[in-house]
Amino acid sequence: MFRLLVRFLLLLVFFAFLRYVITTVARGFSQAMRSQTRPSEPQAPKSQIGGELKQDPVCGIFVSTASSVKKTVNGELVHFCSVACRDKFKVA
Ligand SMILES: [Zn+2]
Repeated sequence: MFRLLVRFLLLLVFFAFLRYVITTVARGFSQAMRSQTRPSEPQAPKSQIGGELKQDPVCGIFVSTASSVKKTVNGELVHFCSVACRDKFKVA
């Protein structure tokens, strides 16, 4: 009876491991497929048309208000090109 229980537990561990391996492989595979199907698509949505152009006070780049990172400073809405610039502005 005890041996049966041990066997059952081993089987359970084995299946858990098997599931882990399958999901890991499947995830890696789907990621590889995704990068293959659209290799030249730009990641940043900065080229999106729409909204006004505002200057990023940190790096000086002009960003569209539609895709900018916004932060209200002293009641004034400030636009940044990225979260990194916004965080830098906070420190300064
Ligand atoms: Zn910037």
